[in-house]
Amino acid sequence: MTTFSGKLLRIDLTKSVYRVEEIPRQYHTDYISARGLAAKFLYEELRPGVDGFDPANKLIFSIGALGATGLQGFSKWVVTTKSPLTGTIMRSFTGCNFGVWMKFAGYDLMIIEGKAPRLTYLYIDQKGVAFLEAEDLVGMDPRSVQKELKQKHGPKAESACIGLAGEKLVRYAVIASGERTASRGGVGAVMGAKNLKAVTINVPVNRPAPADPQRFENLVRAQIDMLKDHPRKKAMTTLGTPYITTPLMESGILPVRNFREGRVADIQEINGQEFLKIKKKKAGCYGCMTRCGGMRDVSAGPLKGSQIDGPEYETIFSFGPLLGIHDKQFIIDANAACDYYGIDTISAGVCISFACELFEKGMIPASEKDRLDLSWGNKEALFALLERIGRREGLGDILGEGVKRAAGHFGEGAAALAIHIKGLELPGYEPRAVKGYALSMATANIGGSHMYGRPRPELSGAIDPFTETDKGASIAQVQKEQAIEDSLIACTFGNSGLKLTDYADYLTAATGIETFSEPDHLMKIGERIICVERCFNVREGFSRKDDKLPQRMLSEPLKDAGPATSQIVEDLDGLLDEYYDSLGYTKEGIPATEKLKELNIDLPQQSD
Ligand code: SF4
Repeated sequence: MTTFSGKLLRIDLTKSVYRVEEIPRQYHTDYISARGLAAKFLYEELRPGVDGFDPANKLIFSIGALGATGLQGFSKWVVTTKSPLTGTIMRSFTGCNFGVWMKFAGYDLMIIEGKAPRLTYLYIDQKGVAFLEAEDLVGMDPRSVQKELKQKHGPKAESACIGLAGEKLVRYAVIASGERTASRGGVGAVMGAKNLKAVTINVPVNRPAPADPQRFENLVRAQIDMLKDHPRKKAMTTLGTPYITTPLMESGILPVRNFREGRVADIQEINGQEFLKIKKKKAGCYGCMTRCGGMRDVSAGPLKGSQIDGPEYETIFSFGPLLGIHDKQFIIDANAACDYYGIDTISAGVCISFACELFEKGMIPASEKDRLDLSWGNKEALFALLERIGRREGLGDILGEGVKRAAGHFGEGAAALAIHIKGLELPGYEPRAVKGYALSMATANIGGSHMYGRPRPELSGAIDPFTETDKGASIAQVQKEQAIEDSLIACTFGNSGLKLTDYADYLTAATGIETFSEPDHLMKIGERIICVERCFNVREGFSRKDDKLPQRMLSEPLKDAGPATSQIVEDLDGLLDEYYDSLGYTKEGIPATEKLKELNIDLPQQSD
């Protein structure tokens, strides 16, 4: 017995066929599951140079070895693909029930290939996979799609789906399931490019059996006991991620007005306590007692009159301070509009803040400027622009391409205002205020993500966040650790109190693979995962030249950001040298041949 099913479901939308395949056991021992396993398959199977929207691109859904087992906070799932936004490998996590249903159906992974001839949804049950017409779902928002599919297939059917933005190929469209979304990097646009509106799974509960049931049960009980009184878990349950808004601003980390500044006067109007006052009930994912979400009323926009789970800190940042806004109801309503159209709140907010700065500088052509007054804080106009992005109309159509491509539309000087790394819009962590984050985001193989390796010692104040030496090895270390957590999957918000040794215990008892019991061995797996992701990118032409920061971070001193005021990133080159050196990469940021041999990874062959 083991919590791996050892099976993947391969679906070809072009030919409307599917088959079940065995996953080689070695893949599990080398990459565990979820993020690691999906990266291995994508690297092995995707031809170099394929465009993110090409039918040949693959969309991989996967869940972790510890999902649906009783352990708390391990039941999220991940979507992996080649991103149409960045051209890199992309992985995007989400929660709720869908991943667990995939596990109940008996699959560790689903690999979706090809393109359906017309808008389609997949219906998966114990009999197999049906390819069904989705004509009546065209243009429908994710919440309505899920409701419709439950009505059609029964209340126990769980779906992952896209909204209008996914169908219209907004390059940062999401995949939604329940109240949560796989948000980053345009995974929903890849689904749209495949003419795939939804995947529905309807199977009975079928929990995976651990290799050592008694030991595993004891570990689950110990985790639950530990969580009951854990202070971080309590803060997450009560306040959720909004609780970090004020502390981040006090450290100069909260980006304001397109990453120019670091302070808003009325932060108390949008902090965790304020959002707590209007929380209607708890919300969260399957198998998680932290339940970090919270339902709140929507007062405007397409979901007016309903409730949504949100906002997270990242949405408070992107529709609040980043746009010069400190109105909590606006932030909730903008969050709801993103959910309705199916777009990433971080990328959407950064695209709109880019437009605000263009507008301020007179760089938006009169034809658009006449219709919307994009002054900082002009809530009505900014909300209208958000809806135009969702529908891909006018300026919204241009911004739907992502901030990097959109900059090309506005001529000289616009690229310097576009805040992204490798095309992925930056999250709510100012790189100039935490130099380890600057390095981690610059080197992240998916682009500007805060979840590729969190520099915890700097964020906690244990290490000076402003120095720019001796950080390469520690950032490589946190990226490896994150790769392990993402391959189990241990939710960053729900894994309070857990250490690498706990993961080693859980994995060994669950899978029976004894090598997982050694933390050093797990770290080697983490190293292998970030290396295979880098090899994927190298094959697509990425190297040191792409491990960079927005120009603003290198040359414009940060304004009004408390202790981080006047900071810039002075020596990214030095940080990169340290980082590459610690990982056995060349000066160009390419894994050296000896390192590839050590990690048992094939050499990347670049595309023509
Ligand atoms: S902590 Fe939050 S995001 Fe993580 S699994 Fe629990 S409810 Fe989901």
